[in-house]
Amino acid sequence: MTGFDCDIVVAGGGVAGLTAAAVFGRAGFSVVCVDPAPPVTERDAEGSDLRTTAFLQPARDLLDEAGLWPRLADHATPLQVMRIIDAGGPGPEPRLIKAFDAADISDRPFGWNLPNWLLRREMVAHLDTLGAVGFRPGIGVRSMLARQSGALVTLSDGSRLRCRLVIAADGRESALRRAAGISVRTLRYGQKALAFAVTHPVPHENVSTEIHRSGGPFTLVPLPDYQGRPSSAVVWMEEGPETLRLADLPEDEFEAAMSERSCHILGPLRLASRRTVWPIISRIAQRLSAERLALVAEAAHVVPPIGAQGLNMSLADLRVLLDLARATPDRTGERAMLDAYHRRRYPDIALRRLGIDLLGRASKVHAQPLRDARAFGLDVLHSVAPLRRGLMRLGLGVGMRGDAPGRSGRGVSE
Ligand SMILES: Cc1cc2nc3c(=O)[nH]c(=O)nc-3n(C[C@H](O)[C@H](O)[C@H](O)COP(=O)(O)OP(=O)(O)OC[C@H]3O[C@@H](n4cnc5c(N)ncnc54)[C@H](O)[C@@H]3O)c2cc1C
Repeated sequence: MTGFDCDIVVAGGGVAGLTAAAVFGRAGFSVVCVDPAPPVTERDAEGSDLRTTAFLQPARDLLDEAGLWPRLADHATPLQVMRIIDAGGPGPEPRLIKAFDAADISDRPFGWNLPNWLLRREMVAHLDTLGAVGFRPGIGVRSMLARQSGALVTLSDGSRLRCRLVIAADGRESALRRAAGISVRTLRYGQKALAFAVTHPVPHENVSTEIHRSGGPFTLVPLPDYQGRPSSAVVWMEEGPETLRLADLPEDEFEAAMSERSCHILGPLRLASRRTVWPIISRIAQRLSAERLALVAEAAHVVPPIGAQGLNMSLADLRVLLDLARATPDRTGERAMLDAYHRRRYPDIALRRLGIDLLGRASKVHAQPLRDARAFGLDVLHSVAPLRRGLMRLGLGVGMRGDAPGRSGRGVSE
């Protein structure tokens, strides 16, 4: 296949796909990014994504490289301290509070928190400024024909694009992954998460708080003040039926329930947004690549929202893919590059998925002896300094960089 229309087609305009378009566009590749669902870029609009993303240190470096950080910095809330509370005693009050301070391992905060709807707004605006990137909302990938020499992508408007590489950022049910015949392993926990924003009288002071009792973690992540009051994003995981019950509670009863579940650590919580419900699963694709196709983000891996790993792992995918493509731009999308991508990313993804699975199970336990063992484990991890620092570095993924690449027809369609 000769005469490419562009270097890369990115399928998916979620946060991962938009970042992929920006970072490859900024690096000099010509990119077309498509998504059948136009992005919702206002907080209170129907369908807006009220989750927030805590970008950890390596992810921020990539956003910087994409030219996105200067747009995002003013909206970002630094996360200096991660506080973990065990409230797994017989009563709902906290019995163990441990703070992990980023200053212990770094002169920068652990990360920076940003609302997903705002990320989409700023990322779409940024893509408009990049001559090398075309963003086409309202259009999806319909099918892909892959050859050793290149890929032919057919879009939902009937147009076709010849390219070197297709990046599948088309989400957890990725049609491109299915069409390539890549199977997945999925774990279901019977849990769901509520994501919403709150205000509170006690300032958060850039401390992110994760509270464990049973059913799953309750996490408060700092946001900028909202309507003159300190504000945080909340992710509240519980077993599915309980989450649905909480989602339907009248507002005053819901506020009382979440204030108690938060151990009143920031005072009484007031609801400051809609409540949105997210299913919790863990999923990993058996392979991260196929002919001319790279799976990234939730098309490749889904983890429960614990330790702010999901999108950060996605940006680590992009980091490796970018470094490999840059090393030999003319060979972008060739089998050797994509094999190297799989080899470099798969072990880290599998390890993180396992770690998050274990943390999730520990947070969910109901039996008192298991809750006691969890508190004991937290106490030990925190009090042994090398263990504590090692854990913080592992959580951040610091030092994880891609490097140079090593060095192949299949028709795919939905
Ligand atoms: C409650 C909760 C809290 C979280 N908090 C954090 C956090 O603090 N930090 C963190 O790192 N991660 C977090 N995560 C994970 C993170 O939100 C997800 O990893 C991330 O939003 C997924 O992004 P994505 O771009 O892969 O997928 P999506 O956002 O699902 O985007 C996929 C896009 O692909 C499009 N698409 C579908 N089919 C096609 C097609 N045929 N062609 C083209 N496009 C197509 C869809 O329309 C969609 O827009 C959290 C997750 C949850 C559930």
